[in-house]
Amino acid sequence: MLKSATRPLKAYDILRETRPLGLKAPMSIYRALDSLSRRKLARRIASLNAYVAARANRKDGAAPAYLICRRCGRARERDIDIMDLAGMLKAGEFEIEDILVEAFGVCADSCEH
Ligand SMILES: [Zn+2]
Repeated sequence: MLKSATRPLKAYDILRETRPLGLKAPMSIYRALDSLSRRKLARRIASLNAYVAARANRKDGAAPAYLICRRCGRARERDIDIMDLAGMLKAGEFEIEDILVEAFGVCADSCEH
């Protein structure tokens, strides 16, 4: 479901879609999203409190960044080099464990709401 979604999905959206299939408990949705996140199969977009399917073939030393359109809600995933970002942040004496990069703007081409 996350994989086929065109926009990041909130737990509530997933619950609404899965209710007809018999998945009714919000906690089971949260547990499933937590499990997918720990296995790096899903990624939480913190500023939206929503989830996207994570790409499986990420290069070593790369982390996902998201370009999020305020108009259509689409989130484009890009790889960022963790060492490049650590350099930009002058993080030499800091061990980065996780990176969340979420940039907001609008699609360059026209997009639907
Ligand atoms: Zn857009």
